[in-house]
Amino acid sequence: MKKNVLDFTFEELEGYITQKLEMKKFRATQIADWIYKKHIYEFDNMKNISKDDRYLLNENLYIGIPEIKAVQESKIDGTTKFLFELEDGSTVESVILFYPNRVSACISTQVGCALKCKFCSTGASGFVRDMTAGEIVSQILAMEEVKNININNIVYMGMGEPFLNYDNVIKSIKILNDKKMKCLGGRHITVSTSGIVEKIEELGDLPIEVRLSVSLHAPNNEIRDKIMPINNKYPIEQVIQGCKDYQEKTNKRVTMEYIMIRGLNDSEENARELAKLIQDLKVMVNLIPVNPNPAGYERPSKKFIDQFAKILIENGIDVTIRAEKGTDIDAACGQLRRRNEKK
Ligand code: SF4
Repeated sequence: MKKNVLDFTFEELEGYITQKLEMKKFRATQIADWIYKKHIYEFDNMKNISKDDRYLLNENLYIGIPEIKAVQESKIDGTTKFLFELEDGSTVESVILFYPNRVSACISTQVGCALKCKFCSTGASGFVRDMTAGEIVSQILAMEEVKNININNIVYMGMGEPFLNYDNVIKSIKILNDKKMKCLGGRHITVSTSGIVEKIEELGDLPIEVRLSVSLHAPNNEIRDKIMPINNKYPIEQVIQGCKDYQEKTNKRVTMEYIMIRGLNDSEENARELAKLIQDLKVMVNLIPVNPNPAGYERPSKKFIDQFAKILIENGIDVTIRAEKGTDIDAACGQLRRRNEKK
């Protein structure tokens, strides 16, 4: 059976082509260069590789770029959402967001998600399977080719819980970080988790220093239980302790994502409780007005969000309010996929 070359780290690629295909070592650098730097996804178009070697590559390997099943592009800011079809017919979403100083991609790590967060369309669709490292990486390559861009920031914040597919996620990070592959520095890679505590701690041991983002979304267990069933397994105080342990190892700031839901977690008291909860951590809180969602939650008014932010700032906490992107497309995670499933 042919292997997906995108599943290989550079060392694996080198090992495979030298040992199994008996090619020269430098071919690995050439292949990686064509794929990751030049976006050439057919061995036959890799012009500095001999005809015999191209034949061998075609016989044993393939470059698993996913099919595009749907695209939505914002007329306002260019935000582009893709629905990709994987080899087995499963679909996942990926998004490109344009900022003045970077082109950022939000990518998926699982087909569906088992965690059923109440505010999330992906959670409402259920879990299908983990994505392979190659499938995770392939989202970046496909988007770069189609849009003719260089993605220089990646957030693992699409469909799925990255830490429930930890090994493939870490492998994909190694591939994307490798100088001979995508060559993206760790500080341009953010992994977002709903709070799988032992993996937060494990991430602290990773030699590549990526950024960590935690979906907190509540100042206490009572509220978090209502919107994130995973809180039963990893209560909020364990998540905070996991972040402390991570910071002891890395000394890195953690981003706390906080989706704001009208009447549920947006009061002044909630803000003060949140400030107290995270007071011993080096954090930045990202306030996110809730997107359209299956539970019908609504976002608070700007006045409430600003007041919430003010209280955090008064308590010495750095805060950002997420800039709205792609408001004229199905920007929320899982929406485009669900829409296509219903057709
Ligand atoms: S928010 Fe993330 S972890 Fe929660 S259900 Fe959606 S995809 Fe899964």
